[in-house]
This record gives sequence, structure tokens and C-alpha cells, in this order.
Amino acid sequence: MRDVMKGKRGLVMGVANDHSIAWGIAKVLAGQGAELAFTYQGEGMAKRVRPLAAGLGASLVLPCDVEDLASVDEVFRRLKDAWGGIDFLVHAVAFSDKSELKGRYADTTRENFSRTMVISCFSFTEVAKRAAALMNAGGAMITLTYGGSTRVMPNYNVMGVAKAALEASVRYLAADYGPAGVRVNAISAGPVRTLAGAGIADARLMFNYQKRHAPLRRTVTIEEVGGSALYLLSDLSLGVTGEIHFVDSGYNIISMPHPDVLKT
Ligand code: NAD
Repeated sequence: MRDVMKGKRGLVMGVANDHSIAWGIAKVLAGQGAELAFTYQGEGMAKRVRPLAAGLGASLVLPCDVEDLASVDEVFRRLKDAWGGIDFLVHAVAFSDKSELKGRYADTTRENFSRTMVISCFSFTEVAKRAAALMNAGGAMITLTYGGSTRVMPNYNVMGVAKAALEASVRYLAADYGPAGVRVNAISAGPVRTLAGAGIADARLMFNYQKRHAPLRRTVTIEEVGGSALYLLSDLSLGVTGEIHFVDSGYNIISMPHPDVLKT
């Protein structure tokens, strides 16, 4: 398969470093001919993201903190000026206070609940609106979610609630933008060792548990997430919208771990 994304331009939000899921997606998209723009969260991230983006030939690398709507507006103004329109959007942004990614969900504070929801859920709705305004029929967007949205994962807590709302947003946005021919989907990735992933208490335990019990008996790579993103953002999936697509080595289908694994 070659040049599946040739002639397509899009924005990738959420690269922090070369372990980021967004980076795995960006590499695959660029490898298939896509032209990319990147955002980074504040100057602290710039020194890592700028060289990575340059390595993929990105022409636009812009600061954007989704808590600051003016910075979001500025990104889309710059994209419109530079390209006129875009073909795809990758939203791989999430945050919650680390002190609440442990212990009980019941102890979540109102302040962190709101902040987690705005950054990890509502930012997709805000960004999608601005992206859709720059898209023609055939445009596509994805966000990143996790199975802690529908089943309880220890310590994932408020982030699970935000991901549930994010997944519902994907369905509503798919319905809103579908008539214009713009598709909205999510990838539900299995655990990956990233900055955000490391914020969850006992992340290593969770990682190893899923590795042991998933049907494929391994976790997923960021490049594998990229492969599925390529499908969802390209014309290979023109009939697909509103989907939550699992890229988790099949972990989500398991009810009880296999006795062979439990015996070892
Ligand atoms: P990461 O730390 O590499 O990426 C998270 C990104 O969110 C960073 O680039 C960070 O700058 C950005 N971000 C946080 N707050 C922001 C703000 N206010 N404004 C703009 N950007 C902000 O970690 P990752 O694991 O690659 O996370 C990407 C997405 O994948 C997240 O939505 C995460 O929940 C999701 N996800 C991660 C895993 C995992 O195990 N790592 C599994 C499933 C889904």
C-alpha cells in the first residue's frame, strides 16, 4: 500500500515526544504521503516537538493549549491562511490531575472533574467544530479513547468518565457532520507507555496485566495505532463514522482470563 494519503493535509494535536500515540499516527500518515501540521502544548514541549515535526517535513508547528480558546482559534486561522482547508484532524489530548488518578473515583473533586472534562473531552468538540469548517466532503477526524470508559479500570477514575463522554461526543459529532460528508471516529487504544499513561497509578501493573491476558498476548505499538488511524482518516473507510475502534490486542473482548494463563 502506497501514498494512501497523497494530496491530503491535516492537523495532529497531542505530540509530546517520540513515545506519544500522536507521533506513531503522524509517522504512518506522513509515510503514506500526508502533509502535516502539528500543535504543541506550550514552549516547554516545543523543543521536543519542533525537531520531530521537521523530520516529517511539517510546514506548520504551532503552540496550542486547549484551555486557552484563543490559541485554538489562532491555530485554525493559521491553517486557513496557509492551506485554505484541511482533510483530517488527529486529537490526542488528555489531562487529569495525577493525584486523582489513584484511589477512588468517588473522591474526585469538582475542580479536577471540570478541568479533566474540558481538556480531555470538550476540547474535541471545540476543535472538531473549527476543523469541520475547513473540511470538504471526505474530511475525517479521530480522537483517542480507552476502554476504561465503559468498564472500571482501577485508578483510571475521572478519566474513564471523561472518555465515556468523549465517546458519546464522537457519536453526536458524527451525526452532526455526517450530512456534510465529514466523518468522526475514535480509536480505543490498549495501554501504551507514554507521559500521559505514566500519570495513572500502577500503570505498569495494568500494562503487564493486559499484555498477559489480551488474545494477542502483547500490548500494541504506537505504529499499530497509526495503521488504524490511517484507515480511519483515509478514503479506505469512507463508509465508517461514529465508531469506537479498538486497537488493544483484543483485550476488550475478554471476560475471564484464560485458565492456561491463570495456571502459569
Ligand atoms: P502523551 O502524554 O504523549 O500525549 C498527551 C498529549 O496531551 C500531550 O501532547 C500533551 O501536551 C497534551 N495535552 C494535555 N493537556 C493539554 C492542553 N491543555 N492543551 C493541549 N494539549 C494538551 O500521551 P498519550 O498516551 O500519547 O496520549 C494521547 C491520547 O491517547 C490521550 O487522549 C490519551 O488519553 C489516549 N490514550 C492513551 C493510552 C495510553 O495507554 N497511553 C491508551 C488509550 C488512549
